[in-house]
Formats: sequence, structure tokens, C-alpha cells
Amino acid sequence: MKPPRALVTGGAGFLGSHLCDALLGEGYSVVAVDSLLTGRRSNLDHLRNESRFELRELDINQPFDCGQVDYVFHFACPASPVDYTLHGIATLKVGSVGTFHALEVAHKYGAKYFVSSTSECYGDPLEHPQKETYWGNVNPIGPRSVYDEAKRFTEAVTMAYHRYHKVDTRIVRIFNTYGPRMQLNDGRVIPNFMKQALRGEDLTVYGDGSQTRSFCFVSDEIEGFLRLAKSTEHMPVNIGNPVEFTILECARRVLALTGSNSKIKYEALPQDDPKQRCPDITRARTLLGWEPKIDLETGLRLSLDYFRQAALI
Ligand code: UDP
Repeated sequence: MKPPRALVTGGAGFLGSHLCDALLGEGYSVVAVDSLLTGRRSNLDHLRNESRFELRELDINQPFDCGQVDYVFHFACPASPVDYTLHGIATLKVGSVGTFHALEVAHKYGAKYFVSSTSECYGDPLEHPQKETYWGNVNPIGPRSVYDEAKRFTEAVTMAYHRYHKVDTRIVRIFNTYGPRMQLNDGRVIPNFMKQALRGEDLTVYGDGSQTRSFCFVSDEIEGFLRLAKSTEHMPVNIGNPVEFTILECARRVLALTGSNSKIKYEALPQDDPKQRCPDITRARTLLGWEPKIDLETGLRLSLDYFRQAALI
């Protein structure tokens, strides 16, 4: 019998590539598409001889068709503040035009559809922790709006295809996730701190470091995706780790783990940087029986070899 076939947009990215691995593990054949704007072929090198896998370099902002598929996973989008600031217009395009194209593929083939959304939909949240029912506090014209509004629009188009075209959709709101294959230079806090600690450079804490984030190790995050993909839930579901840290505490954890003598230096806080972020994962717990298993210390330890190698380059 032919295996089910999945399309993963953004398949060469950090999460996209881990998702490709997981789907192959679930018995899918996988076609990954990626423009390689922020994704990297090297994230998929290990699948070079996998007969059930192929990577096609293409830009989903143009209409595309890779043949019949059973499931569309739409993950294409610059995702770190540094990347989406650099590629602001491309981010808005892939969240809008690219999302229409991905949904058209699902509609055409009667495939299920799963889209990566984000905790950035909540903006600088006034509700804490954030439940899926919270509509957010987003500056629509600020520097982060290229990402935040792109993803909010992505959710709107997805719900519209669900309501008007009966596409069988899932929306995951992803909170800060880390692990191997993150680009060392994508500017996010964990790769930055790991790189700086491993190279003996000062750790750059923005603002006074009192802003909070909660960090989910990639294997936990991917397990959450698979469970949501198999569920029948159409409303957004938060997938993230609910244990909250200040950024200063995160810097101290990285220093302790790496045994680095690096110092902490304080730099300006970027505009509209959310002051706090932490998912309420009641929905994921209840609907999917999911919760993360890997705490920050363990996850950082599991990532150390990767970051050590990457930091040498
Ligand atoms: N941050 C920091 N130093 C860095 C990179 C980031 O203090 O070198 C802070 C950033 O200001 C934010 C938090 O760490 O408050 C998380 O930033 P990241 O870019 O990882 O993602 P975000 O959650 O803001 O999308």
C-alpha cells in the first residue's frame, strides 16, 4: 500500500526539518518545499538517501503544485525577530499570498491542513498566562507587525478556508522553542547566549533582563504538533512550555551549563519587545493529553553538542 503523503512548506527550517523527520517516522512520504530564504539544505542532509523524502526549492508565493498529498503542513515563514525584520515584506507575503497557495493545495486535493502560528498573535500580552481565547495586544504598525500581523492574517485565512471551503484545518500557536538546527545567527535568545558563552563573548541581555519567556525543547514541541495533527480540533491550540523564566535567569542557566566565564552586558530593549510570555496549555493538556517533558536545563544540555559545533564554524 502506498504511504500517505505530506507536504511541508518551510521544510528546510528549524521546526520544518524536525517535522519532516517526525512525519517520516509516522510512515508518511514527505515532500518538503522551501525557498531557502532562511531555511538550510544542511538541516535535511541526513535524509539524502531516504526514498520517501524529497526537497524542492521553490517559493510558495508563486502558485505551486507538488501533486496529490494527504496532509499539508504550512511552516514557511521567517520566524526570528532578526530574520523577519530583515525580510519584512517577504514575511508579510508568505503569511498572506503563500498561505493562500498552501491552502489551495489542501483544498484541491482534499488534504488536511496544519499551520504554524505563534504566540506573537498575543503581542505584548495584557493577559497572563495566555489562553487561546485572548485576542492579543499587537501594535499593527510597529517593527514586529510584519510577523505578528502576517500570522494573525494566516489564522484568519485558515479559518476562512475551514468555514467557506470546509478544509480540515489545524492551527498551532507556537511559543519559544529551541534545540539543534537553530541557526546560530538568527538572533534568538538561546542561540545568541549559547554562541556567546561558547565563544567567551559577553552575553547580551536586552533591557534589564526582567522580561520573561518560556522555552520548549524541540522534541516536545514536535510531539505536540503530531498530536494536534491527529486530533479533530480546528481552533488554535497553544503548544509551548508553561515554565517561565526571566531572560536574566536564562542567561545565568546558559553560563552555568557551559561553564563559561563570559560576563553579562546590558543592551537596549528592542521596541515592542513583549514583557512577558507564557502559554496556558490547558487546551493542549485536555484535548491532546500533551504536556512538555523536558525542562530547560535538560534541553540546553541536549542542545549543547550542536551549539558547540556550530559555534566553532
Ligand atoms: N534577548 C536578549 N538578548 C539576546 C536576544 C534576545 O536579551 O541576545 C531577549 C529579547 O529582547 C526577548 C527575549 O530575549 O525579550 C526573547 O527573544 P527572541 O529573539 O528569542 O524571541 P521573541 O520571544 O522575542 O520572539
